[in-house]
Amino acid sequence: MTDAANPAGNAHIPPGGIMLTSNPFDDDKLHEECGVFGVYGHSDPAALTALGLHALQHRGQQAAGIVTYDGEQFHAHRGLGQVGENFSSRDVIQRLPGKAAIGHCRYATTGEVALRNVQPLFADFEFGGLAICHNGNLTNSYHLRRQLVRRGSLFQSTSDTEVIVHLIATSLKDNVEDRVIDALRQVEGAYSLVALTQTGLIGVRDPLGVRPLVLGRLGDAWILASETCALDIIGANFERDVEPGELIVIDAAGLHSRKPFEPVRKRLCVFEYIYFARPDSVVDGIGVYETRKRIGAELARESHVSADIVIPVPDSGVPAAIGYAAECKLPFELGIIRNHYVGRTFIEPTDQIRHLGVKLKHNVNKNEIKGKRVILVDDSIVRGTTSTKIVEMFRHAGAAEVHMRISSPPTGHSCFYGIATPERQDLLASHMNVDEIAKFIGVDSLAFVSIDGLYRAMGEAKRDAMAPRFCDACFTGDYPIPLIDRDAGKVSTQLSLLTETA
Ligand code: AMP
Repeated sequence: MTDAANPAGNAHIPPGGIMLTSNPFDDDKLHEECGVFGVYGHSDPAALTALGLHALQHRGQQAAGIVTYDGEQFHAHRGLGQVGENFSSRDVIQRLPGKAAIGHCRYATTGEVALRNVQPLFADFEFGGLAICHNGNLTNSYHLRRQLVRRGSLFQSTSDTEVIVHLIATSLKDNVEDRVIDALRQVEGAYSLVALTQTGLIGVRDPLGVRPLVLGRLGDAWILASETCALDIIGANFERDVEPGELIVIDAAGLHSRKPFEPVRKRLCVFEYIYFARPDSVVDGIGVYETRKRIGAELARESHVSADIVIPVPDSGVPAAIGYAAECKLPFELGIIRNHYVGRTFIEPTDQIRHLGVKLKHNVNKNEIKGKRVILVDDSIVRGTTSTKIVEMFRHAGAAEVHMRISSPPTGHSCFYGIATPERQDLLASHMNVDEIAKFIGVDSLAFVSIDGLYRAMGEAKRDAMAPRFCDACFTGDYPIPLIDRDAGKVSTQLSLLTETA
């Protein structure tokens, strides 16, 4: 889900100084990475959803929400902050009765104004109530929003999910399912969506299947979730992945599935495997942990350098470092100890704080590295903040040599499909080659896994340039879904005049 009001990044700052509209690719403002969860046919759907969202917390930590339906009434609880901050009290869960629920966790805008953007969104339609939330990012939401506003739609939030809500409201089809399809046929982008109606639960994955969505069962209940780790936490069985372009409806009659979109070749996001998904999840039939180890092994085969130890940048570099160390038969050591009680540096607002965050988060295990030639393994370099700080700490702690190996190709392009990346000019790899990045972060040598090496780790001979299996736009610039809003230029509009405090 993203902020549709300002796809191009021209943030509007009102007199009070609070950001109203912003851009998902601008690190100082809005991040959009999300987890979705849904349950149908269980007596405690809110508690199950809270647990599911706990398991999906890595997909978005700034806001969480749950909506249930009890047969007569919808009940909602939404808040800024992590799932545990909003859903650990029994009182809150008891205020969410019903047999079905959906829930969402996300990165959100900074400040209180974000509350009205917190999902699931809910609206009363001609056909009754509907709650909806999604993971992903629409690439024509600004365009659609302008059309809708011109025709009289009154937007309450700046999120692109609300564009879908208004498209459902203005559809002339006569049932909910067809209206949802009608709405989604007009949107471009990546989305894995769950919706709750008075009759059931709906799950949809965009035609390319860029973001994951899985179907599970817990006794007689049905579960939809972004990742399998959310099924594991509640003891649900994995049934199958929701297929790209598939719409699933679960109601009193059971489950039925439709493929309402023009078929296209699927392009799951490869970054889910590299960084985003939890390592204990299985995404589209492929284990994330195993994949990361295989990428590490590829990296070692491609660019090994003589050294004494392999050290992961925790936590995301760990599986790749295990694979790397095994392949080159070097000891794997925990040379960096991470403080687990500090948030991700990536979500801190200013450069100054981001630097401070890295220091707060990581400490070097000096005894393990003094006098040693070290190979550090991380999953990606975005701005280079993490690497620069860590390399500096290693030098300070007396490492003889510091080599950096990265288990993804250089990230030279922004993501427009739901992974928070900064604007292109802030990506080191957009304007520096590998040697320049090496110099910038201060290492003795630097190598990234090649794009073909990445595809080999995914079981392919190499990247098929004519028909790549994954969305790898952040590495190749090959965007499989048109970037309608971005291509329309840098457009900024003040769509909301309201600032709000919680
Ligand atoms: P940077 O410090 O800006 O170079 O960012 C690289 C670090 O951020 C790596 O350690 C990654 O694990 C992590 N990272 C990469 N992509 C993302 C993302 N979209 N959101 C949060 N963290 C990320």
